[in-house]
Amino acid sequence: MTRNDTLHITNPATGEPITTLPATSADDVTKAAEQAQLAYDTGTWSRRPVRERAAVLLRLADLMQRDAETLARLDSEDAGKPITECRTGDVPGAIESIRWFAEAADKVFGRVAPGGPDGLGLITREPVGVGAAILPWNYPLAMASWKIGPALAAGNSLLLKPAEATPRSALHLAALAIEAGLPDGVLTVLPGYGDEAGAALARDPLVQALSFTGSTATGRHILKAAADTNFKRVSLEMGGKSPQVLMPDALSYGDELIGDMIEAAFLTMGQNCTAGSRVLVHRDIAEEVVEQFVAAARELVIGDPADPRTQQGPLIDRAAFDRVAGAVDAARAAGAQIHTAGLPHGLPARGAYYPPTVITRVPAESAVLTRELFGPVVTVETFGSEAEAVRMANATEYGLAASVWTRDLDTALRLARGIEAGVVSVNAYSEGDITTPFGGWKQSGFGGAEKSTNAFDQWTREKTVWIRTR
Ligand code: NAD
Repeated sequence: MTRNDTLHITNPATGEPITTLPATSADDVTKAAEQAQLAYDTGTWSRRPVRERAAVLLRLADLMQRDAETLARLDSEDAGKPITECRTGDVPGAIESIRWFAEAADKVFGRVAPGGPDGLGLITREPVGVGAAILPWNYPLAMASWKIGPALAAGNSLLLKPAEATPRSALHLAALAIEAGLPDGVLTVLPGYGDEAGAALARDPLVQALSFTGSTATGRHILKAAADTNFKRVSLEMGGKSPQVLMPDALSYGDELIGDMIEAAFLTMGQNCTAGSRVLVHRDIAEEVVEQFVAAARELVIGDPADPRTQQGPLIDRAAFDRVAGAVDAARAAGAQIHTAGLPHGLPARGAYYPPTVITRVPAESAVLTRELFGPVVTVETFGSEAEAVRMANATEYGLAASVWTRDLDTALRLARGIEAGVVSVNAYSEGDITTPFGGWKQSGFGGAEKSTNAFDQWTREKTVWIRTR
């Protein structure tokens, strides 16, 4: 079989093959879309009473809980994520998402227009029909659940394409959905390559809404494909270069500050869309912050993702390693200072491990300041005033997330208002919780948010029903 009809799943920690799967072809996508449309038209899911749909999704959440360990292991093996991170973050988050959207399903109301005595304007909310989701590899199960939850709760059929490297947790999820009672054809997982299966979904005439999470470059392709075909509604969650802004009193938070900065920078080895990859620190505290931050980064336990003590596993593949190493080498050559503890001995030679790295004294025009590196690499820059901090925070084409640290409420609110990002956390590294919308500004997001009741906007459409009254 050639590259295009087989997916090769490889363990990034060892470079060893895990399994191969048949890759979904463009023709397969066409057939799956027809099946999904058929399932939608029969109404076995789309017209089922909403509380019954909710019950099926709640059963799915229970089954995910039953199989939590399997789901954690699949993501850890496929993506190289530390198993503890999967057990405590990704899997519970995914279960919470399915449960929350199931519970929200019968709380999505339409509207009544403020018409006059001659007519009654009902604005109803209906499913879109066939929806599609395209996922990244860094949070395979969690991203699948953010999309499956609202899409199915709203009554749609969904075609879901996981990333090439990480399809197994989504396939397991689909099997659990059948066990929970989801009718055939309502959820179809299509493991495949982006330029084949992904591109076919973006162009498919039956797909009415497509929700994508991944890189900004791919998001652009998808939007163009939608415009060239049926104008399907497109929602894009994309890259980031998120700032962590530390005002002069930030160090009063002590270990809490440093712990959150470490999590922001190095969670999933920095392969996180909201990674706080740019530390902007007031010059009065910069030296002390760098000292504590670098010391904490050097303490991170690097090793086998399957070991519960491991905090840092490998990058997703050797290509990611080369990209990250190349960017750091270029910064070093340009005069930046590189702080790293290096890697421990005994890691598998073919594992894509890169050590947590902090870069200071970065020349202003260096690419590490602006490019999303998607690795365990953080730059530190200093500022002298609040206005300068906001200017630096916004000096990026991205606008996904930001953190600000200060005890002064006025300062915190001014910073939160000034920073151009979809989520600004105060005295925390956070994306909010399942009740808060998550969506990027600028080139980080387009067309609608995920999480919260806002997510239903991606998967439903409004219809005006005008009733003449006499
Ligand atoms: P990617 O864009 O390379 O791939 C994402 C998905 O798109 C994959 O499933 C891939 O197969 C598919 N794809 C690739 N080319 C395609 C095409 N031409 N048409 C349709 N689909 C195509 O991104 P990635 O490397 O998997 O993930 C990393 C990126 O995702 C980073 O930029 C990161 O910031 C972003 N990300 C964003 C969020 C968020 O919520 N904003 C969350 C996680 C990851």
